[in-house]
Parts: sequence; structure tokens; C-alpha cells
Amino acid sequence: MPDKITVAGVSIDTRQWIGGARVASAETFTDLSPIDGSVLGEIARGGPGEAEAAVGAAREAFPGWAATSRKERARILHAIADGVEERLEELAIVETMDNGALLRSHRRGVMPRVAHNLRFFADWLLALDHEDFETRGHRNHVSWDPAGPCVLITPWNAPLMLATWKVAPALAAGNTVVLKPAEWSPLTASLLADIAAAAGLPAGVLNVVQGYGAEIGDALTAHPDVRRISFTGSVPTAKRIAASAAGNLTPLSLELGGKSPLLVFTDADLDLAVDLAVEQYDNAGQVCLAGTRLLVEESVAEEFTRRFVDKATRLSQGDPRDEATDIGPNVHPRQVEKIDGFVQRALAAGARPVIGGHRKDGLYYAPTLLTDVAQDAEIVQEEVFGPVLTLQTFGDEDEAVRLANDTRFGLAATLVTGDPGRAERVTAQLVAGTVWVNCFFVRDLQAPFGGSRLSGVGREGGTWSFDFYCDLKNTVTAPKGWTHHG
Ligand code: NAD
Repeated sequence: MPDKITVAGVSIDTRQWIGGARVASAETFTDLSPIDGSVLGEIARGGPGEAEAAVGAAREAFPGWAATSRKERARILHAIADGVEERLEELAIVETMDNGALLRSHRRGVMPRVAHNLRFFADWLLALDHEDFETRGHRNHVSWDPAGPCVLITPWNAPLMLATWKVAPALAAGNTVVLKPAEWSPLTASLLADIAAAAGLPAGVLNVVQGYGAEIGDALTAHPDVRRISFTGSVPTAKRIAASAAGNLTPLSLELGGKSPLLVFTDADLDLAVDLAVEQYDNAGQVCLAGTRLLVEESVAEEFTRRFVDKATRLSQGDPRDEATDIGPNVHPRQVEKIDGFVQRALAAGARPVIGGHRKDGLYYAPTLLTDVAQDAEIVQEEVFGPVLTLQTFGDEDEAVRLANDTRFGLAATLVTGDPGRAERVTAQLVAGTVWVNCFFVRDLQAPFGGSRLSGVGREGGTWSFDFYCDLKNTVTAPKGWTHHG
């Protein structure tokens, strides 16, 4: 296989990145573009051997990086962010070719956010502090010691953004990293390795291994030298990783799926509610935080639906490279099969399609809204991860809260209401890691991020990331001249 491929004019090394060197694997897998199903290239397909080599490289590099001053680590992270900004156009188009998400979002939102992830955690590191405190004259000093090699496993729906959300705090804290990107979108992780090396990140501090999770995953997550595992992906994979990590009790951070509610109350600004509801189709519905269950108060349901249909049917679906496109393709033929399976089973069970309900050409799926769905129906309870929403109505606030919480997930919730008192009451009762009131997708990196129930374990963001990626230490020092008197 060739060592490099060219995608939209950008040269990308398809080999592993281990210990500061490119390493070929004996086998490869084929990477497809969801835009038209074309083959982008053959990518190195790692297994246990590559996992061992990458963890070994991270272990070797750890003492040096951990001993590097905070200032220098922050400087290098900023240099990586500079590199991301310099290559922003290339990263944006490669990501679009690889996962089918909108080029305009990559350009204006996602890739600037990648750079921001790196800068934010670099700056946070410099400010990380806990005031010393005293216990009977003894000084307590809290420090954040880096934990060691970290395995970071990421999904395909926002590949580089989610990778750097983990890589940045892990590296800032002084850890070394083995990053395993998703096999449906492996390309920008390889570019990140190049950018990091050019920015002066020492060899072995960031390693990128490519391959199928099922083939390389266990060797990474069961490795006794791995001190942290941070995973974003699906619930079944998370359970497998938790079982694999259990042998060493390796601490885990799990950011998983959702089936989040979007509640529209009778006192809501209905145009705002419709805008927020239609936004749930972003990224062709492949957003963990998406409020896919529209719960609308009976008195406004008809008018809400009318305005929703009017807006949603005007969305433009097509090539994600086109500036005018609102919805691109779904990521992979298997994902489209999965989405359509959910929809067809729901229709067979009696759901009514308000809009959509079917595939289109290629990997494009019609934006879909289903109603007449039972609360215990699969389509209401399971994450579809495609442009598919359900609509249910409620009679009062208590019923709204009951329906919203009647799920095994707990990632996010969105409320649209003109009554601040109601917003406060309802928020207090919702099980969700993030609640948005009259807004959606506002995510500050200093906020705790994560989910309850099956949506995850732990929180990352700001100080929570450093707490996760570090071994916190409290050092108690006796005052000068102190003697122990038994
Ligand atoms: P997935 O679980 O299939 O794969 C995620 C990653 O895990 C991939 O890199 C894959 O190769 C790897 N993997 C698979 N088997 C493995 C194993 N046995 N050991 C180790 N790694 C393994 O998930 P996906 O389909 O890529 O992503 C979609 C899911 O991710 C959805 O459920 C979505 O909600 C969730 N997600 C959550 C968040 C969040 O922050 N909560 C963000 C984005 C996506």
C-alpha cells in the first residue's frame, strides 16, 4: 500500500504514528467518503502489536514530558493550535470528505474550536491552582501530578474536535497519549500527528493508532501501563471497554449516547422553539447531544408542528462541500441501514411520518419527524443517530418532566419557555448533564460536560478534565521545629 494518499489536494500519511515515526501495518482497511461512496484510501489496520508499541512509546516518553515545565507544555500546545489554524482549510475539507459533515461548519465552527480546545487547556494549566491551607500549623499543598500514558478513543461524528477535547487536557496535564480515532473517519488524526510534530511535541508524547476498535481496542484498554482511558462513543462499546479496563481498575471517562428531550411549553416563543427543534437535524442528526424527542405542550402542538414542517421542508440537503447545504449525508452505509431500520420498525408499529421516513439517494436520509409514538416504543427509547425526531405532546409540567426523564439516558435537555420560574422548577427535576434554557449547543470549555445514567461516567471540561487526567496529591508539611509528641 502507498504510505500517503491525497484527499482534496491534501497529502495524508496513512500509517501509524508511534514514537515519533511512521510505521506501516501488515494489513489495511478501506476508508470511504460518505459524499459519493468513493474510496479515499487504504489505512493502516493496527492490532495488538501496534497497541503494544504505541503504549510502550507513550510509557518511554512519559517521564520527560511529565518533567517538562507547565510553561513549556503550554507553549507547545499553543504552537499546535497555531498549526491547526494555519492548516484550517485543509483540515476542514479533509474532515468533510471523510465524515460528510458540512464544510462550512468545519471552517467556521469546528476547526476553530479544535484550536480553541488546545489553547484553552494550555491556559487553564497555567492557572491551575489550589490555595494552600493549614491544619494545626501544617501546610497542605494540592498538586496535579500527571497520571501516565492515556488511551483516548474517539468516534466519527466530530473526529478532530472530540479528539482534541481529550488530547489537549491530557497533554497539558503532562501525560502521554495513544489516540485511537474511529475507523470511519481516520484522516484528520493523522494530520494532527504531523502538526504536533512540527510544533515541537517530543516523540512518543502523542501516538496515533489506526484500526478497527474490535481488533486493537482490547490490547489498548486492558494494558497495565495505561493509567487513564477516555472514550467517546456508543454504550455497547463503553461496556466492553469498562470490562477490559476492570482488570487493572484503570480509571475511565465515558461520554456516550443520548435520547435527549426538547421541551416546548405553552408560554414559549414558538419561532425560537421551531428554530431550536430544526437545529436537531444538524450534522445529519449525528450529534450525541441532539434533542431528538420533541415534547410539546398540547395547547401549542398543532401550531408548533405547522411551523416546524414549514421550516424543516425548506432545508437544503446535498453535497456538504456546498455552502448552501444544510444537511449532508450520513457517515457510512451501515449507519444509513441502522437509521432506516429504526424508522421502518417505528412505521410498522404505527408511527406516522409528519415529514420524511425514508432514504434518499446514496447515504442521504430524508429529515424525518415521527408522531403517534408510544413512550415505550423503540424509536422513543433508543438512540438513532440520524436525522430522525419524534413528536409527543404533554398536558402539564408534571407530565413533561415524567416523559423527559423516562429514558435510560441523561446527556442533555433543552427547554423553551417564557417563564423563568418554570425553567427553574423543571431544570431542577431533569436528569441531564447539560440543560439549555431557550438555547442549544452553547458549550463553554470550562463547564462540566458528561452524562448521567447510560449517557456516561464522569465529567470533563475545565478543572474536571485535569482532575480526571491527573493523580491529585495533597502534601502536608509540618511547621519548622515541629516535633511529634505522640
Ligand atoms: P462506537 O462505540 O462504535 O465507536 C467509537 C470508537 O470506539 C471508535 O474509535 C471505535 O473504533 C472504538 N471501538 C470499537 N470497539 C472497541 C473496543 N472493543 N475497544 C476499544 N475501542 C473500540 O461509536 P460510534 O458509532 O463511532 O459513535 C457514535 C456514538 O458516540 C453515539 O452513541 C454517540 O451518541 C456517541 N457520542 C457521544 C458523545 C458525547 O460526548 N457524549 C459525543 C459524540 C458521540
